[in-house]
Amino acid sequence: PEGRKVVAVATVSQYACQRRTTTTNHNAVFTDAFEVLAECYEFNQMEGRCLAFRRAASVLKSLPRVLSSLEDTHHLPCLGDHAKAIIDELLQHGRAFDVQKVLSDERYQTLKLFTSVFGVGPKTAEKWYRTGLRAFEHILADRSIHLNHMQQNGFLHYEDISRAVSKAEARALTKVIDEVVHAITPDAIVALTGGFRRGKEFGHDVDIIFTTLEVGKEENLLLDVIKSLENQGVLLYCDYQAATFDTAKLPAHSFEAMDHFAKCFLILRLEASQVEGGLNSGEEDSRGWRAVRVDLVSPPMNRYAFALLGWTGSRQFERDMRRFARKERRMLLDNHGLFDKNKKEFLAATTEKDIFDHLGLEYMEPWQRNA
Ligand code: ATP
Ligand code: MN
Ligand code: MN
Repeated sequence: PEGRKVVAVATVSQYACQRRTTTTNHNAVFTDAFEVLAECYEFNQMEGRCLAFRRAASVLKSLPRVLSSLEDTHHLPCLGDHAKAIIDELLQHGRAFDVQKVLSDERYQTLKLFTSVFGVGPKTAEKWYRTGLRAFEHILADRSIHLNHMQQNGFLHYEDISRAVSKAEARALTKVIDEVVHAITPDAIVALTGGFRRGKEFGHDVDIIFTTLEVGKEENLLLDVIKSLENQGVLLYCDYQAATFDTAKLPAHSFEAMDHFAKCFLILRLEASQVEGGLNSGEEDSRGWRAVRVDLVSPPMNRYAFALLGWTGSRQFERDMRRFARKERRMLLDNHGLFDKNKKEFLAATTEKDIFDHLGLEYMEPWQRNA
């Protein structure tokens, strides 16, 4: 009515929990490059720069189309000069000098290779690199190196567990776990979480959460599930971590801290006959089975919504939801609960939606959390 044209500028939030990010990434050219740099900074323990590039990648993943010029980035948050220079180079030449340099760097290549083994983190990889080791054969032949149980199994099942897990395989494993859990307690809930809950087609593992409707009854559930898997002959490896849960504790300040729920990191044997359409194996596999990494977590029912939200990810989404809570709402969020520092009280939730509501955030479906 004022006769003035209103140009709607879509503002992109600096927080991933305020951006809807599906599995369709239109800007993989740029985000792949950023993730290489982030990983390199991680190997060099430069956490600030690492996080900056992870954040920049996450912003681009939320965009509805591919960036076609540097101008397209002007309204975007979390993009520093370095990130913009990389985008500019990629737009002009299709590759970026800094990224090429990292990719051809022997240290980066070796740490990337070593950390691809289950149980090998950046610190161990670095230690091996410094002693001159460059290949798996070197590690396995070196008798002065002690591999822990997890790493031994990481090498033993390397080929299987470094191959992506398909959605059909994740579904088959969820069915296995669901049956085991319900055979132990009929009043249980079991859900596929992690990347597959966000709608990913492939993942590096299968994350499953379960509990009993009655609080307290879940206490021995996970151990009983593990025993049952062992009896069925499908348990290839198990790292069990008992609950260390203190209800009086405030939510953790550091996101990277593990939660206190009973959980386990497994390698399970999955039969081809259990998977619709067969196993995701490169060539024809005559064994008829494969090894798969599976994470199980079993929180008490009154913490279920927080645990489900935390284990659904993505990591960047979780990080930003916690940062948003702290910075914008003076609240502390983690996998166990939400604490309001103004009211000095915990806020209860029975669904994920309750948590978004407490934070004054629009609800994001799991498939919109691929930040
Ligand atoms: P992928 O397809 O590669 O498995 P993903 O998103 O499922 O992707 P995961 O590493 O399996 O990645 O992690 C899933 C979610 O579980 C993440 O949000 C992560 O924060 C959470 N998570 C993983 N391990 C732990 C842990 N030990 N304690 C608490 N949360 C964890
Ligand atoms: Mn996962
Ligand atoms: Mn996992």
